[in-house]
Amino acid sequence: MSDLRDLYEEVILDHNRNPRNFLNKPDGTNRKAHGFNPLCGDEFALHLVVEDGIIKDVGFEGTGCAISTASASLMTEAIKGKTEEEAYALFDKIHKLLLQEDRSADVGKLAVLAGVHAYPTRVKCATLAWHTLHAALESENKTVTTE
Ligand code: ZN
Repeated sequence: MSDLRDLYEEVILDHNRNPRNFLNKPDGTNRKAHGFNPLCGDEFALHLVVEDGIIKDVGFEGTGCAISTASASLMTEAIKGKTEEEAYALFDKIHKLLLQEDRSADVGKLAVLAGVHAYPTRVKCATLAWHTLHAALESENKTVTTE
């Protein structure tokens, strides 16, 4: 477990310092959603360009703690180029992983997010970006909250 925790902290720090797809407002955005975690004050807007069922481009903006920022960064990196079905499937797996319903979900490098289990009060920080993704895929241009 301590290896996972070290790796977790390393990845979170890296993605928080240098978030991927941050402040990117892609031309042709046709899906967006806004996510808010009142427990921590994390707040992000997510922009997607979906063409022919494929997520062609993605960007996010907003402010949040290191965990929420890193999770959003990892999420945008993971879904770019994926089909909507693949993104939904990934949402399901990550959701189960973060809620500890299925610890063995195969999510590749995103498995590092399970390190948040060492900090139970921060789980909602980690899930926020994924709920926002789900809302954006559903074309619900609305605010989702973790509460
Ligand atoms: Zn947070």
